[in-house]
Formats: sequence, structure tokens, C-alpha cells
Amino acid sequence: MIKFNLKCEQGHEFDSWFSSNEDYEKLHSRGLISCVICGSCEVSKAVMAPRVKAECTRPDLRKEPPLDDVGRNFPEEARKIHYGEAPERPIMGQAKIEEAQALLEEGVPVLPMPMKPKQVN
Ligand SMILES: [Zn+2]
Repeated sequence: MIKFNLKCEQGHEFDSWFSSNEDYEKLHSRGLISCVICGSCEVSKAVMAPRVKAECTRPDLRKEPPLDDVGRNFPEEARKIHYGEAPERPIMGQAKIEEAQALLEEGVPVLPMPMKPKQVN
């Protein structure tokens, strides 16, 4: 038996047991899984989604390991990771807007985050 944490289109979360992932898929495709709260059949797995290299680059700070703060080396480090020259890991750091844009143009996923204003010198 596998327990899946399911979530409906309304955002209700609930647990349900299935004999296998196949069983879940079968029931799901027939619309036989419905939300225990609102009865909606638009249900999907909330946390048991396969861990794939998704295109979504937004880091989930609750689940991901702490970010490696590379500071001003960020653009260089992000590029190295992208091209496989440095170990793949989530990093954070500072980049000028032009640098961040250049990375994005190269296809390096970067996510701008608000920085605490820092006193310069
Ligand atoms: Zn619901």
C-alpha cells in the first residue's frame, strides 16, 4: 500500500491509500478519486510527485538544502554549474542586473530575489 497526499483544485489536502501507483493512476484517469471535502474530481498528488528536473526553477526553500552563498561570484558560479564545470547545487549570491540578464539569455536559470539593502562601503 502507498499513501498519497492528494490535493484538489480547491486546494484541499487529504491522504488516500492505494495498492500501487498504477492503481492510483487507474482510478485517477477514470475520475474515481474525489476530494473528501468538496467532492471535486480534479485531484492531483500533492507531495508524491516524481522528483524530476522540472523546468520550474523557483527554489522551494522549505525542502531544498540551504543555498550555497557564493556572493559576488554568483554569475560565474551559476554559469559553471550550468555547463557542468562545478558541482550542481542550489546557490545564491549577488549579480548585477546586466549579469543576471546575460545568464538568462544563456539559458542559465536564475531567480531574482529581493535583497536587504546593504550599506555600500
Ligand atoms: Zn476539495
